[in-house]
Amino acid sequence: MQYKSSRDGSANVTASHAITQGISKDGGLFVPECFPEITGSELSAMTAMGYAKRAALVMSKFLDDFTNQEIEECTGLAYNEERFRSPSIAPLHELYDGVYMLELWHGPTCAFKDMALQILPHLMRVSAKRTAGGKEIIILVATSGDTGKAALEGFRDADDTRILVFYPEDGVSPMQKLQMITQEGRNVAVCGIRGNFDDAQTGVKSIFTDPAIAKRLAANNMMFSSANSINWGRLLPQIVYYISSYCDLVANQKINIGDKINVVVPTGNFGNILAAYYSRKMGLPIARLICASNRNRVLTDFIQTGIYDRKRQFYTTSSPSMDILISSNLERLLYDISGCDHSEINRLMLDLKDKGRYKVSDTMAESIQSLFSAGWCDDSMTAQTIRDVFNSYGYLCDTHTAVAVNVYQEYLKETGDQIPAVIASTANPYKFSANVLEALGGDTSSEDEFKKMDRLQALTSCEIPAPLAAIKGKPKRFEKICNPADMEQVVYDMLHIG
Ligand SMILES: *Cc1c(COP(=O)(O)O)cnc(C)c1O
Repeated sequence: MQYKSSRDGSANVTASHAITQGISKDGGLFVPECFPEITGSELSAMTAMGYAKRAALVMSKFLDDFTNQEIEECTGLAYNEERFRSPSIAPLHELYDGVYMLELWHGPTCAFKDMALQILPHLMRVSAKRTAGGKEIIILVATSGDTGKAALEGFRDADDTRILVFYPEDGVSPMQKLQMITQEGRNVAVCGIRGNFDDAQTGVKSIFTDPAIAKRLAANNMMFSSANSINWGRLLPQIVYYISSYCDLVANQKINIGDKINVVVPTGNFGNILAAYYSRKMGLPIARLICASNRNRVLTDFIQTGIYDRKRQFYTTSSPSMDILISSNLERLLYDISGCDHSEINRLMLDLKDKGRYKVSDTMAESIQSLFSAGWCDDSMTAQTIRDVFNSYGYLCDTHTAVAVNVYQEYLKETGDQIPAVIASTANPYKFSANVLEALGGDTSSEDEFKKMDRLQALTSCEIPAPLAAIKGKPKRFEKICNPADMEQVVYDMLHIG
């Protein structure tokens, strides 16, 4: 299986290359040249398997330059009860008849990013063995909160690898910040920047693509790679849990093999919902993909009109991991929907860069609409949904998941669709204690994050996850803040190369 760049038809690399390189030299994203089928009998066989085995089966279809033994070692090391607080890894919780919450937050950092970032370091190790020529891998991350912590936790103490995370000083939740600045491990570093997420992202991208910096690294036997969701090694593990959730529904006799389901995903960078789309391409019986946004509704507008326009006001919301106006993984969907038309993708991405907007053809817009529905909700509806879901079903959801539940309920009102639905539950509510506590009418008067967690627990009787409780006693290791202009020097300092 070869991987192509979404922007250049002549680029052709192996899975290992796609994973170590992260992004194609032409700025395009790596996409597999085809999508292998997952058959009904495979689904049926998978119902009897644990998560790690299911993951190995799905991923082996795409990683054909890995041996089966290597893949099973990777999935076994990532998806086990030492790393995840649930034996099913990604359990389904029935909210009510026909609606299921797919809980993706039982990993070490309590958000769905763990599903991919627990395995990415292992995939990277195997890939680097083949392609990196003995160089040390330097993972550089810009984060709006959840990716940074999950990447730190995934790569901590990994051999021949170092990781450096930049986060916007005032753009992450208090718990997200605490999680990062108390990070343990001998190969990690974290630095805040005076600026917003876009500044962090722009800084990281320009460091990544600067040939002089790459040369300096190479002289020290190092190379950069990426842990952001543009990396195929992050997307592939996300395909697994949609297939796994389907197997669980079958195993629990909620559906029969071949029955259709809908999938609802709270969306920011379009990675998670793209993985669901890819699982459908492999043959998983998905009827509709429902894309849920917060007040930064750029994707809702795009799916409904075919016009992507990032030139709009940016809002800070109670679901910060979805506060994003440039959804990078949408490029992969456009590539697929256009029939792998590189020149069309180049035109669209150039328009986005130069004009801040693009319009896809009517044919493309129609094929997207034939499959995707989209909706959005603001912070007050998010809070009301948290309250309603808790009062009606005794289920506590975080702000991001609540956006998805709200959009799904609106979808049901409009369509009356009877098909069972799987809703991606992307974070544990204690990652956003202040907002969740406020939604339930609790006392939010304290500045102390741990006090808010205790109050939320007293109010709901939902358990505080151990990794979040444990942060209370941990020393703060990384309190450095820099200006965006100094990021390059911070990288050198961390690597001790000048
Ligand atoms: C990252 C994140 C999202 C958005 O996922 P994308 O793959 O970027 O669309 C939603 N919810 C939470 C909690 C997240 O951390």
